[in-house]
Amino acid sequence: MQPLFLYNTLTRKKEEFKAISPPFVGMYVCGPTVYADVHLGNCRTFISFDIIYRYLVHLGYKVRYVRNITDAGHLESDADTGEDKISKKAKLQQLEPMEIVQTYTVDFHNVMAQFNALPPSIEPTATGHILEQQEIAQEIINKGLAYEVNGTVYFDVEKFAKDHNYTALTGRKLEELLENTRDLEGQQDKKGRLDFALWIKAKPEHLMQWNSAWGKGFPGWHIECSAMSTKYLGEQFDIHGGGMDLQATHHTNEIAQSIAYCGKQPCNYWLHTNMLTVSGQKMSKSLGNSFLPSELFSGNHPLLDKGYSPMTVRFFMMQTHYRSTLDFSNEALQASEKGFDRLMESHKTLQTLIPSATSSEDIKALETRCYEAMNDDFNTPVLIAVLFDAVRIINSANDKKLSLTQADIELLKKIYQHFIFDVMGLKAVSENSKSMQVLDKVVNIVLDLRNKAKAEKNFPLSDEIRDKLTESGVQVKDSKEGTAWKI
Ligand code: AMP
Ligand code: ZN
Repeated sequence: MQPLFLYNTLTRKKEEFKAISPPFVGMYVCGPTVYADVHLGNCRTFISFDIIYRYLVHLGYKVRYVRNITDAGHLESDADTGEDKISKKAKLQQLEPMEIVQTYTVDFHNVMAQFNALPPSIEPTATGHILEQQEIAQEIINKGLAYEVNGTVYFDVEKFAKDHNYTALTGRKLEELLENTRDLEGQQDKKGRLDFALWIKAKPEHLMQWNSAWGKGFPGWHIECSAMSTKYLGEQFDIHGGGMDLQATHHTNEIAQSIAYCGKQPCNYWLHTNMLTVSGQKMSKSLGNSFLPSELFSGNHPLLDKGYSPMTVRFFMMQTHYRSTLDFSNEALQASEKGFDRLMESHKTLQTLIPSATSSEDIKALETRCYEAMNDDFNTPVLIAVLFDAVRIINSANDKKLSLTQADIELLKKIYQHFIFDVMGLKAVSENSKSMQVLDKVVNIVLDLRNKAKAEKNFPLSDEIRDKLTESGVQVKDSKEGTAWKI
C-alpha cells in the first residue's frame, strides 16, 4: 500500500498517516446542532468527511466513525453567552426540545442520504451522555484545572496554559487572545476571561436541565465531544475532524479538556474542512445567506438559475480541495453538471467497448495516479482530472482512435467502481430523479408566466394558473420574499 499523507492542523504539516492499531481507525467528526435545517455549508463539511471515511475503508482500514448530534449545550454564542439554541427554538415554537431535535435530526439524515453520504458507525447525542460529561468535569476539578462558582463549572485556561500549549491548534499567542477577548456581561463569576464553561447552572425557566453535584444545570458545548469521543474511541484515537470555524474555540477547548482529564492529546491527526462561501462570505444561518439543499435541488431560490441534482452538487463540492474555500456560483454548478454527465456517459460507453488485441494506453499508470491524488491529503480535484483522462481514453477507444485490450477495459471498470462510486460516492442519476428535475423546471417556467401575468395586472389569468397548479397537486404560496411551491 502506498503511504497516505494528510494535513494535520495541529502540526501544520502534511504527515504520513499511521493508525494507532491498524487495521482499526477511530475517527470523530463534530456533527450538527439540530435546531434548524442543515444548510449547504454544513453539508460540505459532512460530505468531505464522507469521502475521507470512504477512502480509508477502501484502503482496507476498519473505521469506527463517530459523528455526534448536538442536542443540548450549544449556546447562541460560542463564548458561552445567550440561550441554548434548541431550548430557544422549542420555546418559540411551543414544542418539546426533543421534538425540535427529532425534526432536524430526521431532516439531516434525509439530506445526507440524498447526497449518498454513508451513515457513521455511531451517532451519539449530548443528552444521552450527561453522566459521562459530569464525570469528566468532576475529574478536571479534582485535577485542579476547573472550579465551580454558583453552580457553573469553569475550565481554568490560564492555569492550564502554565504547563500546556493551550493555543496549539491555531498557533495564536495566548497574550493576543487575552488582549482581544472582552470581559463578558453576565459572566463575572469567571476567574479568567478565557475560561469556558464545562457545566452551566440552569435558570428555572431553562427547558433542558439535569441534576448534578453542582445543582441543576446543563453541559457546556465542548465537553460533549470530549466525553463521546473518549467513550467510543478511547483516550487517544486517530482522526478528529470538523469545519475550520470550530478550530479556535470548540476544538481548542476539547484538546484542553482531554489533556486536563487524562493527560494525553486526544487524537493524532486534526483535519479541518474549509468553508462554503457565497460571494466570498461564509455561508451561515445567522448571516442569512444560506441555502437549503432542497432549494438547490428544486432551483426554488432567488440566487439560483435552476435546480441541480444532489449528485451534481456532490461532484461540484469535490472539484475543490476540502482545505480550500469553495465559492458558490451558478456558473460553477452548471460546469459541474456538464462534467458529471460526461463522467456518467463515459461509464455507459465503457460497458460497450470492443477490446482490441493490442493496447496503446497505460491504464495501470492511470490507476496509480488516482491513488497518488487521494494519498496526497485526499486531493479530489486532481483525482477528477485523472478521471477525465480516463473519459478521454474511453471516448477515443469508442471512436477507434486508440486501442484497449480486454484487460485494459476490465481495469478501467475497476477504476470507475473504486474511485467514482466507492470513494467519491457518486451514483448515476435515476430516470425517476431526472423526471423530478424536469418537473421542477416546468413548474418554475409556469410560475414565471404567472408572475408576468401579475405584472401586467392580468389577475384572472394569474389566479387561473395558480388554481390549475393546485388541481394538479402543486401547492403555490406567495409571500413578501417571493413565491414558493411544493408538491
Ligand atoms: P453547526 O450545526 O453550526 O454546529 O455546524 C455543523 C458543521 O458544519 C460544523 O463542522 C461546522 O464547522 C460546519 N459548517 C458550518 N458552516 C459551514 C460553511 N459555510 N462551510 C463549511 N462548513 C460549515
Ligand atoms: Zn465537537
